Amino acid sequence: MTYDRLVCANCAAPVSEGRCPVCRANRERLQQENPFAGLNPMTLIMLLAILIAAVALLAHQTA
Ligand SMILES: [Zn+2]
Repeated sequence: MTYDRLVCANCAAPVSEGRCPVCRANRERLQQENPFAGLNPMTLIMLLAILIAAVALLAHQTA
């Protein structure tokens, strides 16, 4: 999700420029809506490992 091309309804400027309080609020909200933006690669690897372990466990139980 990118907000580079979003135009503010309040000031008609690109939201990414943050010209008015509405722009800045939208920018903050959009940045927080992307949960993977703040994750570092190590966290992603750990999440992937947990997912694989869970799938393996389920496959073992159903087999
Ligand atoms: Zn604005």
